[in-house]
Amino acid sequence: MQHSFSRRQFLTAMGTAAAVSASRSAVATTPAPSEGPAPSSDQAADRIVDMHVHFDEKNPNFVDDLVKVTEPLNVTACVLTPYRSRMLIAEAAKRHPARIVPFGYVDMDAPDTLRQAEEFHTLGYKGLGELEFVKKPYTDPSYMPVYELADRHSWVVLFHTGIVLRQKFGEPEDVASYRMRAFHLEEIARRFPKITVLGAHCGNPEYEWAGEVARWNPNVFFDLSGSTLTKMQDRLVEFRKIFWWTGTKWGTKTPEDDPSAFVKLVFGSDEGLDGIATVLSQYRAMFDACDVPVRTRKLILGGTLTKILGLTA
Ligand SMILES: [Zn+2]
Repeated sequence: MQHSFSRRQFLTAMGTAAAVSASRSAVATTPAPSEGPAPSSDQAADRIVDMHVHFDEKNPNFVDDLVKVTEPLNVTACVLTPYRSRMLIAEAAKRHPARIVPFGYVDMDAPDTLRQAEEFHTLGYKGLGELEFVKKPYTDPSYMPVYELADRHSWVVLFHTGIVLRQKFGEPEDVASYRMRAFHLEEIARRFPKITVLGAHCGNPEYEWAGEVARWNPNVFFDLSGSTLTKMQDRLVEFRKIFWWTGTKWGTKTPEDDPSAFVKLVFGSDEGLDGIATVLSQYRAMFDACDVPVRTRKLILGGTLTKILGLTA
């Protein structure tokens, strides 16, 4: 979005691309997951919803490329769209309703954030995100009118949580990860119960806070995009310590009353179009390591968001 380089370029520059491809070959040897990619896009039951696909303004063929990548994977992508590209993605979503769900990115500190959010709604956008690079903590009173609007529209709002990349190394930046800590989402979820609050990156590295906030708030979910599944590829079983309350009385209402604590996760890739399949493999490696039931896997990969977003195409 407003980054001076893409996330993928950034990761490559930081030398983590090698780690990602290493994990790709590692997960290639894991058994084929039982839910697998669907053979055709009309198999709605196996639809995968990717909550975290940033619109790439530098790619003039973005929409065509997205359809090409998502069709064989049976993925519906929530496309996180800057305000200036709002018309392009609104129209693309109408042409490809099974592939694109439009989400509007707003700068929470801009003077006309509320007006931009209203316009996104008028254009048929399903929610906001990814909110990030905020100048104040997410719970700052000045941001409440945006949440009130999102609550009125029963919107889904995707928040960046946890550590955030540095865009400029040689000049000052007014950016700080603590403003985007996962526990801030608790207050937003409780004050605005009609918002579905999605936290990107599971609060990296404060996974425990993310898990606990999700546990007590039925309208909070997290994705595992970012560096986490790469960082933890040799210790994926540790996710059981974060999502620990399966089969206990210590949870709250879940999609389809699924008893697994892992049902508080949703799928998000955040790696550019060419990274979606890799992140899917990483999620499935985590499912295998933690014995996540097949039913829960389907909810995580798409079932939960299909219902919340009312996807029918
Ligand atoms: Zn993010």
